Amino acid sequence: MLRCIFTIVPVHLVDHPVAHDALALLRDRTTNASHFRRLAHRVSLILAMEASRDLPVTTGSVDTPLETTAAHRLEADVVVVPVLRAGLGMLEAVLEILPHARVGHIGLQRDEATAIASQYYKKLPADLSRSTALIVDPMLATGGSAVAAIAMLQKAGTQDIRLVCIVAAPEGIAEVERAHPGVHIFTPVIDRELNDQKYILPGLGDFGDRLYGTM
Ligand code: URA
Repeated sequence: MLRCIFTIVPVHLVDHPVAHDALALLRDRTTNASHFRRLAHRVSLILAMEASRDLPVTTGSVDTPLETTAAHRLEADVVVVPVLRAGLGMLEAVLEILPHARVGHIGLQRDEATAIASQYYKKLPADLSRSTALIVDPMLATGGSAVAAIAMLQKAGTQDIRLVCIVAAPEGIAEVERAHPGVHIFTPVIDRELNDQKYILPGLGDFGDRLYGTM
């Protein structure tokens, strides 16, 4: 089930039992990196389905072995933009759902003291003015990285920008709302708050470290 909580930013709560089951195991501190990667992939498949639910289609026809019938094909130009490095854990799942999507990469480093994100890498496909962008960044914490990534896509001309995450904090949603009120957020859960180190509580720890076993 999909619930859309309209603050100013539309937040789509992807309330799916398979997503919640995967999330429970992602949160579990004893889940190892290999299992964590598979769970991140599973929940990302469901999120990608929801984030692509309203993409435009063209209607044509197809010849089955028996007769000709109407057929709908995806028309949208989609660009998937993982925020390095944790976003890479969601990329393959989104490409499984949208195999023709183009891919951009954004590298943002969070200053541990100030939690301000600075860019160290950016490679986006050309001509994004008519594209739908799916930014994949699993942990929407302070919102600093999300806001910076959205700004880069807006600068590249993208109008339809969607943020897909696995856990969102109220602070991060508020920050996206403040800076970019038109952006839709897709998440299975909104957690309680950030701690002093800007980690999400209850959260699941450092997503990138758990994904790649670099704790
Ligand atoms: N990034 C993470 O990986 N985890 C958090 O809790 C917050 C930001």
